[in-house]
Amino acid sequence: MARPKILVVGAGFAGVECVRRLERELSASEAEIVLVTPFSYQLYLPLLPQVAAGVLTPQSVALSLRRSRRHRTRIIPGGAIGVDTAAKVCVIRDITGDTVAQRYDFLVLAPGSVTRTFDIPGLAEQGRGMKTLAEAVYIRDHVIAQLDLADASHDEAERASRLQFVVVGGGYAGTETAACLQRLTAGAVRRYPRLDPGEITWHLVDIAPRLMPELGERLGDVALGILRRRGIQVSLGVSVAEAGPEKVTLTDGRVLPCRTLIWTAGVAASPLVATLGTETARGRLVVRPDLTVPGVGGVFALGDAAAVPDLAKGGDAVCPPTAQHASRQGRRAAANVVAVLRGAPLRPYTHKDLGLVVDLGGKDAVSKPLGIELRGLPAQAVARGYHWSALRTNVAKIRVMTNWLLNAVAGDDFVRTGFLARRPATLRDAEFVDAYLTPEQVREHTASLRAGLDGPPTG
Ligand SMILES: Cc1cc2nc3c(=O)[nH]c(=O)nc-3n(C[C@H](O)[C@H](O)[C@H](O)COP(=O)(O)OP(=O)(O)OC[C@H]3O[C@@H](n4cnc5c(N)ncnc54)[C@H](O)[C@@H]3O)c2cc1C
Repeated sequence: MARPKILVVGAGFAGVECVRRLERELSASEAEIVLVTPFSYQLYLPLLPQVAAGVLTPQSVALSLRRSRRHRTRIIPGGAIGVDTAAKVCVIRDITGDTVAQRYDFLVLAPGSVTRTFDIPGLAEQGRGMKTLAEAVYIRDHVIAQLDLADASHDEAERASRLQFVVVGGGYAGTETAACLQRLTAGAVRRYPRLDPGEITWHLVDIAPRLMPELGERLGDVALGILRRRGIQVSLGVSVAEAGPEKVTLTDGRVLPCRTLIWTAGVAASPLVATLGTETARGRLVVRPDLTVPGVGGVFALGDAAAVPDLAKGGDAVCPPTAQHASRQGRRAAANVVAVLRGAPLRPYTHKDLGLVVDLGGKDAVSKPLGIELRGLPAQAVARGYHWSALRTNVAKIRVMTNWLLNAVAGDDFVRTGFLARRPATLRDAEFVDAYLTPEQVREHTASLRAGLDGPPTG
């Protein structure tokens, strides 16, 4: 008899934890495990701002999916672009652009999220995200290029626009990004004798009245104080009205000469979610506490893509989109898939939030582990210790630790690689948001590709 097929979509915190646990719990004869992922690594997203800042190399936060021969999951290099839950088929575009259809018995959806955007003139063309390795590497190159070009220019207006940088989003991703990149330019400018450090300005903008509200008022104020002391202009209660190639207009009327707009104003569930045609809550797939999607058989969803009830908080609360929840949901989803296979009862996901760590670069940090408020070096030790221990492989731990030590001792060389320097990394291109099918197109595909399906249905 054919083995049931478990198809996992997305190799992030949720997907990889799920796959590894399935490999451990199930024998090869019990089920086939297949993972759909565009990349051959799991990206450790919380350390991405440090990649942009050059503290860590890109490789150190890209954890290989093929690290061990024991990993028996079959990997399909591509992205899922639609799901037909009635036919139990997932449509995949592989990395060559070919479309293939995969039948599944169990589907675990963990495609994460994309940068949330709004209908702001110029944002689609000018905004750059901080969600993928390519974006982090691109932003680093772009920022160093602005210093190079400003240094080479005699035009005052050009220099002014190249030396102002705008980050939108006062959550932890945006705050860490602004703080880490400000350290990058503060360090780099010493190598440009023609540039006046006073000309470089970083702006952090958020429509909310406070930075990182989840930190609480006191610690949020500490973070604000650190940023302001370092010269970062923080504007709260303000957003972007319009973005152009050489200026950004804010909603309070200010016009900032600027050629760098980094957009980190929240996340939206992967567009894959909409192809299922099932219920969503603020764009995330509605799931039961046991991570099953109501109304469709054999489908689980988790991580940033799913609105998982937060049983620890109770009421209508859903889990926030964090790595902390995603990885634990991955383990619960795997355990529940195994439970279904073995006829055991499913268990609900529950986890009490452990808190937040925010690395602002150097000795600056704020952390709130288990409700304890920390700042300065203790907060930095907790932040780095937490991320270090959360890295899944020993080789990644060694790479990250070595990078931290090397950076602390030898600093940065501020090298601009020049990769894709002539192609703007728009959010659309970098995060593949246009790749998805409509539910109708999914059904057309599953019908027309039926002959090309990879095997008879099982179970
Ligand atoms: C800059 C930054 C800093 C952060 N800091 C923290 C922090 O300090 N603490 C914390 O808890 N959280 C942090 N987060 C949030 C955290 O990274 C996310 O909540 C977490 O990654 C969600 O896990 P996930 O598995 O749902 O998605 P992801 O980890 O994003 O993984 C999704 C995976 O699916 C793949 N994928 C996407 N679409 C498809 C598709 N159609 N088909 C197949 N594969 C697909 C992606 O390539 C990716 O590998 C941070 C996020 C950012 C951006």
